[in-house]
Amino acid sequence: MGFQLTDPVTILKGIGDKSAALFRRVGVENLEELLRFYPRDYDRIEEVSLISELKDNSRVVVRGTICSGVSERKAGRMTISFSQAADESGKIQLSFFNMPYMKKMLKKGSVYYLRGKVHRRGNSFTMEQPALLSPAEYEKQQGKLLPLYPLTTGLNQKAVRKAVAQALEAVIKEKDMLPEILPCDIRVEEDLCDGTQSLEWIHFPEKEEQLAAAKKRLAFEEFLVFLLLVRKMKNSVQMVPSAFPMLETADTVRLLESLPFRLTKDQEQVWREIAGDMTGGYTMNRLVQGDVGSGKTILAALALLLAVSNGYQGAMMAPTEVLAVQHFQTLRGYAEKYKLPFRPALLTGSLSAKEKREVYGQIENGECNVIIGTHALIQEKVRYAKLALVITDEQHRFGVRQRETFSQKSMGQAGDSRMPHVMVMSATPIPRTLAMILYGDLHVSVIKMLPTGRQTIKNCVVGTDYRNRAWKFLEKEIAEGRQAFVVCPMIEPSEESELENVEEYTEKMRAVLPKTLRIEMLHGKMRQTEKNRIMDAFGKGMIDILVSTTVIEVGVNIPNATVMVIENAERFGLAQLHQLRGRVGRGSHQSYCIFINGSDSEKAGERLEVLNHSNDGFYIAEQDLKLRGPGDMFGIRQSGILNFRIADIYQDADMLMAADKVCGRITADTSWEEKEEYRELSELLARSIRNNIDFPGI
Ligand code: ADP
Ligand code: MG
Repeated sequence: MGFQLTDPVTILKGIGDKSAALFRRVGVENLEELLRFYPRDYDRIEEVSLISELKDNSRVVVRGTICSGVSERKAGRMTISFSQAADESGKIQLSFFNMPYMKKMLKKGSVYYLRGKVHRRGNSFTMEQPALLSPAEYEKQQGKLLPLYPLTTGLNQKAVRKAVAQALEAVIKEKDMLPEILPCDIRVEEDLCDGTQSLEWIHFPEKEEQLAAAKKRLAFEEFLVFLLLVRKMKNSVQMVPSAFPMLETADTVRLLESLPFRLTKDQEQVWREIAGDMTGGYTMNRLVQGDVGSGKTILAALALLLAVSNGYQGAMMAPTEVLAVQHFQTLRGYAEKYKLPFRPALLTGSLSAKEKREVYGQIENGECNVIIGTHALIQEKVRYAKLALVITDEQHRFGVRQRETFSQKSMGQAGDSRMPHVMVMSATPIPRTLAMILYGDLHVSVIKMLPTGRQTIKNCVVGTDYRNRAWKFLEKEIAEGRQAFVVCPMIEPSEESELENVEEYTEKMRAVLPKTLRIEMLHGKMRQTEKNRIMDAFGKGMIDILVSTTVIEVGVNIPNATVMVIENAERFGLAQLHQLRGRVGRGSHQSYCIFINGSDSEKAGERLEVLNHSNDGFYIAEQDLKLRGPGDMFGIRQSGILNFRIADIYQDADMLMAADKVCGRITADTSWEEKEEYRELSELLARSIRNNIDFPGI
């Protein structure tokens, strides 16, 4: 056939321009991207249940004999067909929407394996829209795992499976199409299957063992490539003599004395470490790790102030515009209130071209001395007059490469290679051993305690039947002058999923709750200026309830918001839920977090209970890891550091350590890239660098 990985998907049978456009929407244009388009989950057919033992709202397979004829009813434009099936233990109702052919197809006395979700109606169960499998079909599917891909409207599972199967067939036939990047001895030593095999098994595993082997190999590969890339970028950073040594100034002392609160012991300790770095002999390279709400922003403000009062510029990068605007306002507020020498500028993507040019000018001529923004800060056009400090907030949201680019910004004049001080902040709890591997040469400061005077957040985990009472509770809090967040996992309704979505939820709330409540929505598909407007209004108390996706998850600080309702909480990772919860409990009022569990699985409930008992990010991450079996990984959305495609730094911690060892061994030989056995691996690295491929979120 002669396929190549770079060939467009249209080379495959059955894929024309129209389906190619659909594939493009899920990020797949060529064969390589198709092969790396991993399933989000696998469909495993259930064991047969007895009708007498069914549970409400569960997905089941029942082996039933059709025991009544088909009757029909019209409901609007819809035709609903009804029938019944029985096993030795009881009877179940069946209903089908707009499937008039059921009348002919379903024969009394025939036996089917009926698969679908059952609901209790009075004394009996109804299965809506069941899939009908013949005994032979059921037999064949048992124990099998069918891949489920993340889709887009118009693209279905069957089409993706067919396309992937063709691409796999080509790869298996032509040995050279997908070169093996791991030398044989590493594979043997680490007990890893070969690359082609791992792709075959990740897409079409015949049993759980194959899936596990595929994941292991792919996770190892991801970690190894990541670590090699990071080492390559960071080779030069260690202990560089400071190009910008500073002196302690009265300004930072004055800010500390004027603040309405005292730093906690931990904050104070970390501030001493930061100030020590910046006034010392070496360039700062420091990670500040602190749980949500531990008060990292003030440390950033102090560091920026130290740079500014030494006559330099400082810049702070945030992952979202909402957060950048908030930081900008905080600093401007400090400057006005405490007469600090900050001259802040805001640089984000939603500025007009003219505004941008203006800000660029102010940055270049030094008129502005603190620059706050999104990744707009690292664009080539931005030239800093005297940049001596760069801070990255919520650093796990940035690619490794983006962060490196930021730290190389410095003075921006040609030939000036002085490195600024670097500080990165993160709320992600990472055990120390892993942090050492992931952050290599960064010094790590940890803030463990939360500021005093906070009331602990009251939590509850409830089912969807509690929703009305949750809404009543929101009303009550709002009547007392507070504000509330509601988080839904989806933006808009989709055929693929029953999860709550922001658009419909907002409408429902507006219809049900009193008209006087001001309810708005916020999500990633909205225009940036609109998002800013909404956040601004929410911050000023002009919105009562903000229904949003996880866009509000990072950093947002609205002390007057006291209730957080999270819909389909079972769909999020515990660490992420903990982050979301961190949006409330930031002021002096009692705050509440209501986790609504949309699933009836006992395990989901058990996982969520962890949040009920603990507010400690480290403990929560650890428990999440314990309670999730290897098979549960997919379908749970973790933010930030779990953004490797397959690997998960918690779940696969031992793989990460193994990859780190191998990485050390490979790079011990400085000319490893010229060795024949590493040819494919080093070519892959070179290609990633050339194509500017970044790793999201470590
Ligand atoms: P995070 O670490 O999640 O970024 P923030 O820096 O946004 O947390 O701080 C959360 C809130 O706590 C802010 O309103 C901040 O002003 C306040 N805060 C910070 N430090 C203290 C402290 N030592 N005592 C009381 N409140 C504090
Ligand atoms: Mg923060």
